[in-house]
Amino acid sequence: MTSKTPQTLEWQQLSNDHHLAPFSDFKQLKEVGPRIITHAKGVYLWDSEGHKILDGMAGLWCVAIGYGRDELADAASKQMRELPYYNLFFMTAHPPVLELSKAIADIAPEGMNHVFFTGSGSEGNDTMLRMVRHYWAIKGQPNKKVIISRKNGYHGSTVAGASLGGMTYMHEQGDLPIPGITHIAQPYWFAEGGDMSPEEFGIFAANQLEERILEIGVDNVGAFIAEPIQGAGGVIIPPDTYWPRIKEILAKYDILFVADEVICGFGRTGEWFGSDFYGLKPDMMTIAKGLTSGYIPMGGLIVRDEVVAVLNEGGDFNHGFTYSGHPVAAAVALENIRILREEKIIENVHNETAPYLQKRLRELNDHPLVGEVRGVGLLGAIELVQDKATRKRYEGRGVGMICRQFCFDNGLIMRAVGDTMIIAPPLVISKDEIDELVTKARKCLDLTLEALQS
Ligand SMILES: *Cc1c(COP(=O)(O)O)cnc(C)c1O
Repeated sequence: MTSKTPQTLEWQQLSNDHHLAPFSDFKQLKEVGPRIITHAKGVYLWDSEGHKILDGMAGLWCVAIGYGRDELADAASKQMRELPYYNLFFMTAHPPVLELSKAIADIAPEGMNHVFFTGSGSEGNDTMLRMVRHYWAIKGQPNKKVIISRKNGYHGSTVAGASLGGMTYMHEQGDLPIPGITHIAQPYWFAEGGDMSPEEFGIFAANQLEERILEIGVDNVGAFIAEPIQGAGGVIIPPDTYWPRIKEILAKYDILFVADEVICGFGRTGEWFGSDFYGLKPDMMTIAKGLTSGYIPMGGLIVRDEVVAVLNEGGDFNHGFTYSGHPVAAAVALENIRILREEKIIENVHNETAPYLQKRLRELNDHPLVGEVRGVGLLGAIELVQDKATRKRYEGRGVGMICRQFCFDNGLIMRAVGDTMIIAPPLVISKDEIDELVTKARKCLDLTLEALQS
């Protein structure tokens, strides 16, 4: 690396001296120093060394409409001047949260017309857990407490969020999961399908839901939660047989279905929600990320009318956050949804950029390091392997991290989940920018292969 500017060094010193960063090895971060991102526009970031970087991850999957949209800044500024804060406790409301609730009901699947707001996706899933148990208690079935989730799913980083999630490296810290949560197999054919065909494996993984319901007893199961497509787990696109079989099982047993739409929601698949993409009929949907395009924190839980009807009979729901439905966040979310709708951004993803990205990405299949390319909408994954035919990995070489570093050094953000490279660019990415992304990705794959062979 070239020597760093004094300004970069000063900021890195502040990081060393005072900041504790999320999902980081504190000691390693001190040694290397964080990359400092100073500004952004469209799909590009700039760091404090002046490098321009194509953001293939839309921040953390969230910057749907791209960086630098003044309309969102203006909406926040206007709302801050008018009513910067008021709470929604004790029978109070304010216009932005009400208008936003209506705007979300308009785009949500049929029959999902109410929203409980939170500050994040994790809080949305905490809210879900409490609401599910409250719902069954009102119905006179207080034993229906267990939430079935999936290994390697991601549902956030609060105590409930990390427990619902199936990341064992998260469970190891803090004695998780909390009681009343159980995990079944994920539909990750490439890594876990063995000799089965993807279709067979999809049925196998889905059947685990039924087996677990029967094992625990349907009278003890409150809900099943799943991401339509697992994001943080490695952009895991289930085999075609998976969701249809899950739907059959859900139809058979009296449990709630929660779609965690934090990544898939707001256009990522080329539909408004992942549930629309797969034809799912959730009782609740967790949202965050794309809701505000990440310009300000906000999450929530969209709830089906029949569930709300039961909750209406249950007296107080003793749950809420100081910042539930924060007026500034609500005003920003409203403006974000207006832009998504009026600029037909999701239609454009569906008709133009998603098919184009998926076609271009699959060209990487000819690369010697690539075992599989998969994707839906503006989500993509590239599996790095030693042997294409057997899907054998380069054991213990940290190939994903090597590739990620080459990406950083060559002006592209791709994330590594083990040896799976993943992308989720802003929904406004153009075809030219997709070309740039794929060209850079290929170059970094070449560099990674060279590094492995040297
Ligand atoms: C990011 C994410 C969450 C957690 O959202 P936070 O806003 O980080 O709390 C929950 N579920 C899924 C699927 C996510 O990707």
